[in-house]
Amino acid sequence: MAGEGFRLDPWGTLEVKDYDRLRRVFGIRPFAEVIPALRELGFEPSLHMRRGILFGHRDFDRVVLEGIRRGERVAVLTGFMPSGRFHFGHKLTADQLIYYQRRLGFKVFVAIADAEAFAVRRIPRGEAYRLAVEEYVANLIALGLDPDKTEFYFQTNRGPAYYRLAQLASGKVTAAEMEAIYGDLSPAKMMAALTQVADILHPQLDEYGGYKRVLVPVGVDQDPHLRLTRDIVDRLSGVVELMRPASTYHKLIRGLDGGKMSSSRPDYTIFLTDPPEVARRKIMRALTGGRATAEEQRRLGGVPEACTVYDLYLYHLIPDDSELLGIYKRCRGGELLCGECKRIAAEKLLEFLEKHQSKLEEARETARSILEPPSF
Ligand code: SF4
Repeated sequence: MAGEGFRLDPWGTLEVKDYDRLRRVFGIRPFAEVIPALRELGFEPSLHMRRGILFGHRDFDRVVLEGIRRGERVAVLTGFMPSGRFHFGHKLTADQLIYYQRRLGFKVFVAIADAEAFAVRRIPRGEAYRLAVEEYVANLIALGLDPDKTEFYFQTNRGPAYYRLAQLASGKVTAAEMEAIYGDLSPAKMMAALTQVADILHPQLDEYGGYKRVLVPVGVDQDPHLRLTRDIVDRLSGVVELMRPASTYHKLIRGLDGGKMSSSRPDYTIFLTDPPEVARRKIMRALTGGRATAEEQRRLGGVPEACTVYDLYLYHLIPDDSELLGIYKRCRGGELLCGECKRIAAEKLLEFLEKHQSKLEEARETARSILEPPSF
């Protein structure tokens, strides 16, 4: 989807310098506006909400907050394409699911987008299953997602009512309209997009629990799927009555060179299964907002906003706001130099990885026991 120089491509790369402008261009509302109402309902915002990492929403107030007020059930749904290893970008989505499950009591649906992985990346069935179990579902469980309160499913296993929804959706949009949203589209990507529409909407069907209020937390590059889904909901009126979903948008954590964090860029991406020494080496080579020399940094201070190590603190490694502020001020004031700061980050990261990885084997067994292998 293009607009004032931005193009959102769910299958491509995206580097955003100005999230506020992007939000305005695509008509996404600021998330900060709904935080007071969330508090009034008795819920403290999550770390990502209060730090502005969750920067935008569509209909969070109308669907989610109103649902809580009325005592109605709310579901949260997101998808993972099993195309590589689970990294700290994925963890950002996982943390949100866990927040909604534990703190707000929402039902969680996790789509394993194996149909999309095959259509778009040619990932074969066996590999998609292995990645889903060993990487995605296992890491989600080890991070704290309760498998008893979560419905994990493969797209290819989901059943007739789900596929009927994708079929109905395909009759309500033209190729030209889809290209206006996504840009050039292959038939495989068209199918993948329509399958995503079914993912987002199917929890509303009685066959899947009848959750009329659905929230979809995503990285902002996934917004085209939400735009398409919202249009299709309106056009399905009279055929099947559905509610427009709510969505929230998070900033994308950068890779350690300042580019995209992605499984296909392993040197710049920290995986939750990285051995400690590998993770330490990656951190020590990371791009920072430091100055050319120590003397200059003491004099001028560093630039945390430009630093990928600070990103890790902000998104993941320092939950305590006052501790984070301390690092920010010491960096800005030139008291903290990058070498020492990276050592602190490496220690925190290794401590997290050790604890997390100690839970992984058991989580993999659970994942194997609950996930049916895809059927085609
Ligand atoms: S001192 Fe830390 S936060 Fe500041 S630029 Fe260096 S590594 Fe980044």
